[in-house]
Amino acid sequence: MAATDWRAQGTLVLASNNKGKIAEFETLFAQLDLPVQVIPQGQLNIEDAVEDGLSFVENAILKARHAAKISGKPAIADDSGLCVPILGGAPGIYSARFAGEHGNDAANNEKLLNKLKPLRQDGAAIEGMFVCVLALVEHADDPLPQIFQGIWKGEILAEARGENGFGYDPLFWLPELGVSSAEMSKAEKNKISHRGQAMQLFKASLQA
Ligand code: IMP
Repeated sequence: MAATDWRAQGTLVLASNNKGKIAEFETLFAQLDLPVQVIPQGQLNIEDAVEDGLSFVENAILKARHAAKISGKPAIADDSGLCVPILGGAPGIYSARFAGEHGNDAANNEKLLNKLKPLRQDGAAIEGMFVCVLALVEHADDPLPQIFQGIWKGEILAEARGENGFGYDPLFWLPELGVSSAEMSKAEKNKISHRGQAMQLFKASLQA
């Protein structure tokens, strides 16, 4: 199958049930003027896939395959999370369920703060990075998923700041901007975030 066939299918399924991500994607996809309708998998009653890969790229591909298999349509998935090098990359692919229950942002943030507390040294920043991998499959068995990856570097705050965004945004500090990612508007965040970067690569692939 040719790499661009999905554009002729009328629909691209967005393989995510995360409200925060879907809200960001809606804005990002609207800017692309795609010749297809992007439909979140929830509207097709597709439940989350079992994420048993060991990397963002593996999980993004299996989420996209799962949505494509059930819908019979091309699908694009995002697997994303926060990696903290001093914690060996944790929470990493387990970002959504770091504290146990899937999607409990408050508990995840508290666990991260507690893990970092003993590692903090006066005045020294703790590096962190948001990672986003997008995988687009033409169909469930596509042997050649298209992959777009964005990495957004920052620091991990010792206490939460800001009300916007979702997930770990209140703990993610951008030193050069002097704000946390929860203090940015959706538009400002989309311009530079891991998800925004991956979407820029996706956009460039459309023009190639
Ligand atoms: P996924 O849905 O399995 O890819 O998990 C993504 C998780 O990573 C989310 O539930 C958040 O905890 C975290 N995450 C990913 N992107 C962001 C972001 O832009 N801001 C804050 N947290 C994020």
